[in-house]
Amino acid sequence: MQFIDLKAQQSRIRDRIEANIRTVLDHGQYVMGPEIAELERRLAAAAGVRHATACASGTDALLMILMARGIGPGDAVFTTPFTFIATAEVIRLLGATPVFVDIDPATFNIDPDRLDAAISGFDAKAAGLTPRAVIPVDLFGLPADYDAVNAVARKHKLFVLEDAAQSFGATYRGRKACALGDAAATSFFPAKPLGGYGDGGMCFTDDDDMAEALVSIRVHGMGADKYDNIRIGINGRMDTLQAAVLLAKFEIFPEELTRRRAVADRYTEALEGVGVPRVPEDCRSAWAQYSILAENAGHREAIQDRLAAAGIPFAVYYPIPLHRQTAFRTLGYREGDFPVTEDCAARILSLPMHPYLEPGDQERVIGGVNGG
Ligand SMILES: *Cc1c(COP(=O)(O)O)cnc(C)c1O
Repeated sequence: MQFIDLKAQQSRIRDRIEANIRTVLDHGQYVMGPEIAELERRLAAAAGVRHATACASGTDALLMILMARGIGPGDAVFTTPFTFIATAEVIRLLGATPVFVDIDPATFNIDPDRLDAAISGFDAKAAGLTPRAVIPVDLFGLPADYDAVNAVARKHKLFVLEDAAQSFGATYRGRKACALGDAAATSFFPAKPLGGYGDGGMCFTDDDDMAEALVSIRVHGMGADKYDNIRIGINGRMDTLQAAVLLAKFEIFPEELTRRRAVADRYTEALEGVGVPRVPEDCRSAWAQYSILAENAGHREAIQDRLAAAGIPFAVYYPIPLHRQTAFRTLGYREGDFPVTEDCAARILSLPMHPYLEPGDQERVIGGVNGG
């Protein structure tokens, strides 16, 4: 049994992938070939957003959007400590300061009430920082509570960057993930719901000026001409070959989302004695991960032992919250600063989740968790 099975998917669409790769080998436009614009068009339409800008990774997508917004030294960016390092790393990389806000234990996403309290109580003068933006993360594929987050952000005049690295394909109250903030970043790392064969990412926004800035930042801050550089940018391009692979994978993506949902529904129906993920009404998760909460750390260890003995793979996302990471020690946070996050980190466990998980394997996972 695989934690994430990429082989089963490949055997379904191998011909299509090879044909798309062959097309790139024939036209030879390895950098910014026509597949890039095609992928951007299709994904912008799928998300219901005006502009999509393909780039080299989800991390670059986050970085480029913050650069387009002019985030830098002296700026505070509010985000969750219960996420992958990249979410806050890009803030620091630009010289800005991440300010962490604890999560809602029901969704593992940033808690809008705590966000409001954190911004209202933020002593900008003492910190020497200006609040500029919020980065909510759609953890495990479930969108954060954007109606509430956006209202808080509007009240405090902050920009909202949706970290949709795990949630492409999800929905929130009739809107699609990647359309839920002022801009969004997703990732095509192989293990993400829409994963490629290597690194890739995409920026989304309805803002024409931001989209224009992103196109420039993606290629060293180019202006009308490539050798006329009007701002500092990066080499953030997606490879044409990667776009060709993603175009083939995107054709079966809607069906894969349905299959993931079926696996999640079966888990939720059958798992006993653990906290199972709850998807709020009018929302659909992309089910990047199916994560359960054990009663305590000892209980999680017992479940892990049973799964390991049965040869069932599992993972812990994320064992060390960002405020406890060595890379962020200079921010001055302590153990106990974000009790909900710390409690979840000690009890959470992610189970095998992919569109091709056979019913027999699903039952083995359920048996391993339930201890039956
Ligand atoms: C994967 C991920 C990223 C980074 O994406 P890459 O494509 O690996 O650079 C950022 N944020 C979150 C929440 C992620 O899961």
